[in-house]
Amino acid sequence: QTTLTSKVKDPYPDWKPGEPVPYAALCKTFSLIEMTTKRLIIMEHCSLFLRQVLRLTPGDLLSTVLLMINKLAPDYAGIELGIGESLIMKAIGETTGRSLAVIKQDQKEIGDLGLVAVKSRSTQPTMFKPKALTIQGVHKGLMAIATVTGNGAQGRKVDGIKKLLAAADANSTTGKVDITKDKGGPSEAKYLVRFLEGKLRLGLAERTILVSLAQAMVAHEASKTNTVPSTSEIEKAEAILKTVYSELPSYDVIIPAMVEHGIMNLRDHCKLRPGVPLKPMLAKPTKAITEVLDRFEGQTFTCEYKYDGERAQIHYVAKDAEDGLSQSLPSAVAKEAGHGVASIFSRNSEDLSRKYPDILAKLATWVKEDTKSFVLDCESVAWDVTEKKVLPFQQLMTRKKKDVKVEDVKVKVCVFAFDLLYLNGEAVVEKSLRERRDLLHKSFTPVEGEFAFATSMDGQELDEIQTFLDESVKASCEGLMVKMLDGAESGYEPSKRSRNWLKIKKDYLSGIGDSLDLVVLGAYHGKGKRTSVYGAFLLACYNPIADTYETVCNIGTGFSEAVLEELHTELAATVIDRPKPFYAHSAGGQHQPDVWFEPRFVWEVKTADLTLSPRYKAGMKEGVDPAGEKGISLRFPRFIKVREDKKPDEATTSRQVAEMYRKQESVTNSKGPAADDD
Ligand code: ATP
Repeated sequence: QTTLTSKVKDPYPDWKPGEPVPYAALCKTFSLIEMTTKRLIIMEHCSLFLRQVLRLTPGDLLSTVLLMINKLAPDYAGIELGIGESLIMKAIGETTGRSLAVIKQDQKEIGDLGLVAVKSRSTQPTMFKPKALTIQGVHKGLMAIATVTGNGAQGRKVDGIKKLLAAADANSTTGKVDITKDKGGPSEAKYLVRFLEGKLRLGLAERTILVSLAQAMVAHEASKTNTVPSTSEIEKAEAILKTVYSELPSYDVIIPAMVEHGIMNLRDHCKLRPGVPLKPMLAKPTKAITEVLDRFEGQTFTCEYKYDGERAQIHYVAKDAEDGLSQSLPSAVAKEAGHGVASIFSRNSEDLSRKYPDILAKLATWVKEDTKSFVLDCESVAWDVTEKKVLPFQQLMTRKKKDVKVEDVKVKVCVFAFDLLYLNGEAVVEKSLRERRDLLHKSFTPVEGEFAFATSMDGQELDEIQTFLDESVKASCEGLMVKMLDGAESGYEPSKRSRNWLKIKKDYLSGIGDSLDLVVLGAYHGKGKRTSVYGAFLLACYNPIADTYETVCNIGTGFSEAVLEELHTELAATVIDRPKPFYAHSAGGQHQPDVWFEPRFVWEVKTADLTLSPRYKAGMKEGVDPAGEKGISLRFPRFIKVREDKKPDEATTSRQVAEMYRKQESVTNSKGPAADDD
């Protein structure tokens, strides 16, 4: 799996040592990757290119990797392009001297804005030859577009795009690319537009880039001593980079350290630290207490209330933190908090400190004197001050999202801490949950209505768990989280949906085990009372391997009229003329939605069960239908809420939907209709 026997050739022999990496070289590699579906070949192209960057222009490695993963900065920096199709079409038209109407017509026919750009570019008369694009230049240009604010921001964004597009393909000898051939070839305009759209669509998963980067680095280091790395060295390097990235998911920190100290020493220089949010550990759904008992048989586990609020990862460093803690929180997200500075991050690593100044204001009062630095995993939950109890999630949603002032806060929150990942200068993720919990309890003081430890119960019997589950529901929680308590398996696994954490949601005990978080792709105009709004919607799950959204249901239930109006306003602003090329849906027929949307919104949806249907595409690539004709669909789907904390590529995956479907099938087949403990 990890050999470097290169069957692929250097795609860009003209680039000289020390020269800025030509953007054309990256696009050449992208196009080679796009032409194959073989994972190993993709990895070879990718690692060969990264090796060249390391050899010739190592200072450009960070920008190169960022452009490969379709990002400009780590998530917590909050930098997003947020550019819709209409701005891109305007820029293509204005750069190439074609009218917007013509561009729109092309988009209707071709359906891929990247290719529309290629076509427009190739018919454009070239008066002068602009300077060729470099990776640094493209990164800078895109960053400028993303960070434009204030008056006339839209216009200046278009100008920024035009500047890049005008210089795109300056290297091309003829300027003519046949868009029907080679998927548009290595055109820079095509990949620029795709980057702006947020989907490069190369079949190049971020994980593959990480592995390729490790391979490139080992090969590069070995080449300095004229040796060839062994398979075990390559595997070791891959494991190091994966672990480091999961604890410190920031290429901005990792790449310079790796280039300076070498990959084998990376763990000494890049460790979990306050200020860089980790991707949280996630749980697998279950639909019966017996399923939990089967999973943990022979091992100790613990049950905790599953609070229904918003995940909050709190990072803190005291001003008098020990000398060993050389890093402090990056100024962009650090806020004053008593005797220290703190940041709060969301489930997807976004900065929440502007939403929760009330948490920051009180934080210091929960922190014991000896607690000088920490990273806490918590749930922030709406709190009823008079009744002294948890309030439903809907209350939390009524809070403002940004620039909240402590004195204006109406919905108070209580923070329920359930894990500790870092304490006093040291990562504790590898300790057992029992040890982490002890440390947590020793390092903080609960304050009623402000800070509490998640209620837990260590009983191992079915009856005890059932009683605890009932109590959790009475306490307005969603159900239970059941976690491995001792041994190596009980360590905290960042970014993983792990079998060592199971969730039991009261509502799903007799259903499929969980709700789904789905992306809104299209809508149908309402009828009768709903004529001025959308009456139903087309939803999809995400396939991270193919990088596509696969349709999974139409939904028209669970919406109040007020919600429908609000959704109409939000969604109408994202209407596009035709489905994106990365939407996997049934083409034609009466099932087409009346309007299509940019992939922007994620909704939580409940369903009675899952079934196969020729009308939907979910899980088809997972082989759920041996004949390959049907996808999975939701029966009687019901809207629960908008998942503001999830981006479209964090929606429920096709694989998860397939897993839920198969589990339901096996239960149905072996024990009759869904077994439950209710
Ligand atoms: P959902 O929140 O809809 O269940 P998810 O994909 O966001 O889905 P899961 O892994 O399914 O996350 O469930 C874990 C979530 O439950 C955490 O993200 C956290 O916000 C919340 N939670 C509440 N109480 C706990 C707890 N005691 N331990 C861990 N997570 C908890």
